Amino acid sequence: MRRKLAAGNWKMNGLTASLGELQSLASAHPDPLVDILVCPPATLVSAAAQCCATLPIAIGGQDCHAERAGAHTGDISAEMLKDSGACAAILGHSERREHHGETSDMVRAKARAAHAAGLIAVICMGESLAQRDAANTLDIIAAQLALSIPDTSTAENLVIAYEPIWAIGTGKVPTPAQIGEVHDFIRTRLERRFGPGVGRGVRILYGGSVKPDNADTIFRVPNVDGALVGGASLRAEDFSPIIHALS
Ligand code: PEP
Repeated sequence: MRRKLAAGNWKMNGLTASLGELQSLASAHPDPLVDILVCPPATLVSAAAQCCATLPIAIGGQDCHAERAGAHTGDISAEMLKDSGACAAILGHSERREHHGETSDMVRAKARAAHAAGLIAVICMGESLAQRDAANTLDIIAAQLALSIPDTSTAENLVIAYEPIWAIGTGKVPTPAQIGEVHDFIRTRLERRFGPGVGRGVRILYGGSVKPDNADTIFRVPNVDGALVGGASLRAEDFSPIIHALS
């Protein structure tokens, strides 16, 4: 039985004062039935992890370098994230693929580093609107799955987030049938590659404009094991009803 996961991606948002949102979230969910993960910017990971040490909220990073250490100004290694109190890292988000030129090969290397450091890799993938309109969605997902997911993956250290690029931050959401088609496809491919044990154990999140008013509909779709939430994860009053919808 896969435990549901509500993951928040704060992106480049949040100052020290924002840590209060974590306290509010924990107050609203003192004994949650689902896993809660919040990924603040790197500057807040350590403080957030300390703040959540006794709260039912896990903390993650939003990226990591593929190498353990070295001359990589401005970068952060998986080991550093782990050392800061993170238990996971979002990898291959479309904003990084698009704005930082990250390829699926690079994402796979980062995920391998995350696994070596003992982090859960939350690997994102999704199609652009042009790719969907050209009926290429499943081919794009197949390629991203094949190249972005390392062989070090297990049911415990891998989470996949299906995030159609055209749905991120736009208020546009695929239909339940469209979400279901991709999630079923990902599940089948995982089972084929890793076997039924791992393939059925990996959690597959949906991401892209998840809000309190659409979460319930999205979470009814088979093979949706939770959500990766951007904008609506910044404030506890928005994230909390999404967590409730998953519970
Ligand atoms: C995201 O960036 O991962 C995301 C899903 O953003 P939003 O929820 O704001 O669409």
